[in-house]
Amino acid sequence: METGSARNSGATGAAPKAPVSRPQMAPLILFGSPGSGKGTQSKLLMERLNIPQISTGDMLREHIREGNGIGEKAHASMKNGALVCDDLVNDLVRQRLAECDCDHGFILDGYPRTRDQAEYLTGIMAQRGVTPVVIHLVVDYNIIIARLAGRRQCPRCGTLYNVLSKPPRVAGVCDLEGEALIIREDDREQVIRERLDAYERQTRPLIDYFREKGRRLVEVDASGGTPDQIFEQICRSIQSE
Ligand code: AMP
Repeated sequence: METGSARNSGATGAAPKAPVSRPQMAPLILFGSPGSGKGTQSKLLMERLNIPQISTGDMLREHIREGNGIGEKAHASMKNGALVCDDLVNDLVRQRLAECDCDHGFILDGYPRTRDQAEYLTGIMAQRGVTPVVIHLVVDYNIIIARLAGRRQCPRCGTLYNVLSKPPRVAGVCDLEGEALIIREDDREQVIRERLDAYERQTRPLIDYFREKGRRLVEVDASGGTPDQIFEQICRSIQSE
């Protein structure tokens, strides 16, 4: 990433100044069940903190759109609401974190989701000498179901809407693209049940893992309030850490 000092290195011929080092933020892990608002909150955090948001779900969907081998493997699990295999996801995350925009911090959205992934991430964090902060978005089960069932997405720009809480200006049409909104393949009723089941069995137990490892764990009640209100709660919790 280009720094101010790299651009303003002084008069011609002067020795370039050393780049101003930007402090490394503790990586943030957005944790919670499907529909808890991880995607929305991690995007708001990315804008506020100016560090990248890394969503394994988005990365996998991108591979599916490209129609490559990774996408094919991932699609088989995703369309049924099951988790994609650990080795594949771990590899994607390792490669993404090696990119230089992650040098000063990053937000993980939807990773880790299994014990194997959590241990893999612990190894990467140890190598980098950083300790993540886990932000657990806690949402009532019935609210989760209503949110997921009402979710609609623009197939072109990916903007998420909700028929109840965040409807588009014209029903069924993206405000930005004018495109007809779709229900994501994995937001269908049977698949929602499978995703929540996978969360209960494989992902929720990671809270104990984080505690065992002494991770800083921040719990935020994300059942009510607007996304901006929940975001302010998250910011206050991180600051008080
Ligand atoms: P998300 O958009 O985070 O809800 O993820 C959508 C789907 O992508 C999940 O239901 C899984 O099938 C897959 N997925 C996303 N992240 C992971 C992960 N960390 N491990 C395994 N599968 C994942």
